[in-house]
Amino acid sequence: MSSLAADLEAAGRIGADGEGVTRFAWSPELAEANAWLMRQLEELGLETQLDPAGNVLGRWEGGEGKAVLMGSHLDTVPCGGRYDGALGVLAALDAVRRLRAEGVEPRRPVWVVSFNDEEGSRFQTGMLGSRAFVGNLDLEDWRSRGVAAAMAEAGFEFERLAEARRIDEVGAYLELHIEQGPTLERSGTDLGIVTAITGMLGFRARLVGEANHAGTTPMELRRDALAGACRAVLALREEARARSDMTANVGVIRVEPGGFNVVPGAAEFTVDVRSPTAEGFERIDRFVRETLGRIAVEESLGLELAETHRKPPVALDAGLQDVLEEAAGEEGASTRRLPSGAGHDAMVLAHHVPAAMLFVPSRGGISHSPAEHTPPELCDLGARVLARAARKLVA
Ligand SMILES: [Zn+2]
Repeated sequence: MSSLAADLEAAGRIGADGEGVTRFAWSPELAEANAWLMRQLEELGLETQLDPAGNVLGRWEGGEGKAVLMGSHLDTVPCGGRYDGALGVLAALDAVRRLRAEGVEPRRPVWVVSFNDEEGSRFQTGMLGSRAFVGNLDLEDWRSRGVAAAMAEAGFEFERLAEARRIDEVGAYLELHIEQGPTLERSGTDLGIVTAITGMLGFRARLVGEANHAGTTPMELRRDALAGACRAVLALREEARARSDMTANVGVIRVEPGGFNVVPGAAEFTVDVRSPTAEGFERIDRFVRETLGRIAVEESLGLELAETHRKPPVALDAGLQDVLEEAAGEEGASTRRLPSGAGHDAMVLAHHVPAAMLFVPSRGGISHSPAEHTPPELCDLGARVLARAARKLVA
């Protein structure tokens, strides 16, 4: 068993929850995982710190200039898998182990990080640790969600969150992560080089018609809000299927008044559309507004459309993508460039420093589940490529 595989085993036992793993932000389980990680980092001679935001930092100080930061997160979703986040942290640890073994003397600092609360499972807010690290705080919102109370209980001070800002000392960020989708496995590709983190746009739509008797109202006179909503669902699906740079999902729908013998008077539903390119992001925004507006008119329905979230796509650094590609080539790995459909700490970092991500395949495209799996040889391959890329940046 490789060192990385052994680390994955060890980390996966912390917070074990049936077949899965549960480690929430500021929980005893995450504290145990953090302490374990710090011991591993210390064994490699790194200076470790649990910062005021609950991020673990391992610093290999050497040379001059800004640090090359590598890592991911150790927090999980409820009953998640062993790979999401943890693999990126442990691959960074493994990369440092390799550089040490090769006797590399870095010209600039090499840091390993495990960002706190990437998943946001506990407070329904994500990437709290990396946002504190770059100084992008939303204290009022976090306090209202109970973050301050949870921090106090774990021995942290909410008032000191701003002290976690260290982005000015960082020159580049590399994150290895499982793909969480089926593209690499299906195409038989070893590794993915991430071009961008997809932009996410959300709406709450409400179509308003007229509730009426389901037996006596003539079909051509009905103003059926649910029929309008169904047309919207299918129009979104059709558009997304016709495009390579778009996904669309309606995940929640509620019909009023909700009687089997009543024509639906109102239908309220969510819309989640995503695109990894700036141009695609503009287009999906227009498409949702125009399509729902048109259907409302054609179905004689009223439309209320409210935006619930807007996170434009984040392009990752082209130079670092090339470094990863070259490193992968030297390891004999096949690669493919692809966008990430999920959010990651890298999207927070990318607003401040050059950032890049390396994907390893997810078996069956599954994540956020105990069934998450990446073959050990591909985990090791990913870690070797990460180590090579780091060496190119620091040696
Ligand atoms: Zn993750």
